[in-house]
Amino acid sequence: MNTVSDTIEKTKDVHEVVNSEKDKLKNKIPLKGMTLDELREYFIKTGEHRFRGEQVFKWMYSDLVVNYDEMLNIPKSLRSRLNNETILTTLKTTDTEQSSSTGTKKFIFETEERNKIESVIIPEKSRLAQDGQTRNRTTLCISTQVGCPLDCKFCATGLMGYKKNLTPGEIFDQYLLAARDYGKEKLTNIVYMGMGEPLLNFNATVKTLKIFAEELTTGVSLKKITVSTAGIAPKIKELADSGMKVKLAFSLHSCFEDTRNKIMPINKKYSLKENIEALKYYYRKTNTRITFEYVMLKNVNDRDEDINALAKLCSQMPSKINIIPFNSLQHMNPSGYAAELTPTPKHRIEEFAQRLREKNITVMVRNTQGDDISAACGQLAVKFK
Ligand code: SAH
Repeated sequence: MNTVSDTIEKTKDVHEVVNSEKDKLKNKIPLKGMTLDELREYFIKTGEHRFRGEQVFKWMYSDLVVNYDEMLNIPKSLRSRLNNETILTTLKTTDTEQSSSTGTKKFIFETEERNKIESVIIPEKSRLAQDGQTRNRTTLCISTQVGCPLDCKFCATGLMGYKKNLTPGEIFDQYLLAARDYGKEKLTNIVYMGMGEPLLNFNATVKTLKIFAEELTTGVSLKKITVSTAGIAPKIKELADSGMKVKLAFSLHSCFEDTRNKIMPINKKYSLKENIEALKYYYRKTNTRITFEYVMLKNVNDRDEDINALAKLCSQMPSKINIIPFNSLQHMNPSGYAAELTPTPKHRIEEFAQRLREKNITVMVRNTQGDDISAACGQLAVKFK
């Protein structure tokens, strides 16, 4: 029989092992997440040829390998050194769930520190493209933070609080693991719309965009990537200046400062007015029209005066509106103002969209997908350990 002191000793041993593993990791260099320039520099600094940077870049981000031994054109001795000194894989898939009705697939990934994050694959029915051909679009929705500090009242991730920024490697590896599972060629679009606020994890977000932008990466081009923000005005301008020409989605949800203050506390720091200036700047710099996301909340933002205010806003810059039916958070037992929010009825959503279209505004009504597996917009939330 184990004595209590035996058990304590054993627990200590386990902790020591875990801690030494952590220490080992701490000293390792995170290769995954480095841009092409950084990889070249890393190899030059460690006495290797610059072209090793290109080779490893391709293996990591295009071939999506998870093991140095798969990097066949890298000498064995170098592979072994890289294995000991650097980090190649950052996440583990702990669970997946697929909706039988829509094909939406949710992944739960775990970081080294055992934080859980979620990504979702959303297949869309074939649609008619501008050239008259039908195309399939399959979008991967990725997370940039564990939890989120913004506390938007309608969002499940907000309700769970904030833990940490993801590293560039952890952001990229959501794509890698989803693509390896689902088929890389099938993933056509990426949206930075999962857990977290990408522009509050700005450097890591931009690094991953730089990786997708490289010609050597045969993944998804920047034109097919959307970054979504709740409105961090100065960072919208910085993104415009970064040269990464992605589509920008702005989570608008109301054209009125007081309503926005209530449902999105971040508006008190960066007002709508300041954000509108930043969005105009983004358009001028990138020549890409802005998508306004608009979650329909009954009696909060679905009134006639909201239609007029939206039309006025859209006249200020090339844009379109994505109307999103509110996905309920009742299963999370929200309190305070969050508990009062209810979805706008379907017929009013249709009428609201129609009235905007009559004003010559491009409006899409997003169909809810994935709510049967808690993978719909704003429903991503994993309990902290
Ligand atoms: N922080 C970023 C990205 C994450 S949210 C942002 O705010 O844009 C991604 C999108 O899901 C946003 O437009 C957000 O407003 C929307 N969303 C959040 N909760 C939702 C819910 N319960 N129902 C429908 N959409 C929601």
